[in-house]
Amino acid sequence: MDFQPDRNLEAFRQNVRAFLRERLPADLVRPLRTGTRSAREDVTRWQRILNEQGWGTPSWPAEHGGPGWSVQERLAFDEECMNAGAPTQDGGAQKLLGPVLNAFGTPEQKAAHLPLLLNGERQWCQGFSEPGSGSDLASLRTRADRDGDHYVVNGQKIWTSYAHRADWIFLLVRTDQEAKKQAGISFLLVDMKTPGITVRPIRSIDDCHHLNETFFDNVRVPVTNRVGAEGEGWSITKFLLNNEHASTADLPVLRRYLKQLRSLAVVARDGARPLIERTSFALRLARFEAETNAIAMMVQRVAALEQDHSPAAHAMGSILKVRATELQQQMSTFVVESLGDHGAVAYPGPQERDAAALPMQELGRGLANEMFFRRASTIYGGTSEVQRTIVARSLFQF
Ligand SMILES: Cc1cc2nc3c(=O)[nH]c(=O)nc-3n(C[C@H](O)[C@H](O)[C@H](O)COP(=O)(O)OP(=O)(O)OC[C@H]3O[C@@H](n4cnc5c(N)ncnc54)[C@H](O)[C@@H]3O)c2cc1C
Repeated sequence: MDFQPDRNLEAFRQNVRAFLRERLPADLVRPLRTGTRSAREDVTRWQRILNEQGWGTPSWPAEHGGPGWSVQERLAFDEECMNAGAPTQDGGAQKLLGPVLNAFGTPEQKAAHLPLLLNGERQWCQGFSEPGSGSDLASLRTRADRDGDHYVVNGQKIWTSYAHRADWIFLLVRTDQEAKKQAGISFLLVDMKTPGITVRPIRSIDDCHHLNETFFDNVRVPVTNRVGAEGEGWSITKFLLNNEHASTADLPVLRRYLKQLRSLAVVARDGARPLIERTSFALRLARFEAETNAIAMMVQRVAALEQDHSPAAHAMGSILKVRATELQQQMSTFVVESLGDHGAVAYPGPQERDAAALPMQELGRGLANEMFFRRASTIYGGTSEVQRTIVARSLFQF
């Protein structure tokens, strides 16, 4: 693969910046680029604007209606959007469900869901994990029993991000109680307004409500809402989870931490001197810059392996997930440490653009919440321990 900088990339960035200046409404700009989440209405409005531009699904290939961008272009787009304070997109729909529907959906399912997904009218959540079935997902017990042209779903999901505001859920259920555990799983699309669904909030240490428990009590789901054949849910899940690896690297977030650290380097003081003059700070900042660059190269490498359908893609994706999420935790912690006493303040609030002009109290807003949230990054999308096992097993294959 080629690590040379793409000479057209700067022109691409300029184009994205011009678009953001022109089309990103001022009232959608998140005053705080860290620690808070975009409101549902903001996600919808921004998605509609992106879709009008043909940029609604940045990671999709052209044959599926995406812009067909290279990996570098996708990363540059994400980074420019984050720098401009644009709302986030519905990642579950864009990066997980969308590719599944494109690959396995019937023409009717594509027609029913993709246009609404593209313009942000229908938001999704992911109903995979259950109490006792997270890493060992194939042991899931939520069952779907056939009753004529419907399934009747009973069971419980947990850690369902955004279930409280999602319109639909993509759900793994057991449709065959006798089959070997992976063989009995199916993949359903379920309207969250269906009678029998109850969502209960789980408050997390970052003081946000994004996690939930989701209960299913005799929920009737049309059989036509099943993606793929009955019992084919596990192979669809493996396809989907491979897409999840690359997105959990969250390279734009690492680059944002670097920016925050560079601001703090000159604004925060070590006695009378700026923090950058403290050798230990400067050394750690330099190490984080080098490690972020290494992650950027790994993201490209994993994408290239995936594109070539290389058998090494899976293990490399796991290495990337472990390294990137550990770095997220280390850097977000270092940001908070660099704030000194002000880092102890864990509250959300506005953060102005010109960091150098801000008092320290303002710089610290939301950063502790962000640091707390990142504790979860080595858990969601597959825990680090499980990723390490995947890497270790791969050593016996090559
Ligand atoms: C912020 C957040 C958002 C999430 N969002 C969603 C979502 O939207 N939808 C969804 O379905 N799920 C979601 N999850 C759930 C997530 O996928 C699971 O938490 C994850 O898969 C781990 O499963 P578990 O929590 O059941 O932990 P367990 O699997 O019970 O693991 C507990 C501990 O044991 C270790 N362990 C388990 N098995 C092994 C093994 N074989 N070898 C070595 N160590 C092992 C793990 O590494 C971990 O340290 C989310 C989780 C978080 C934290």
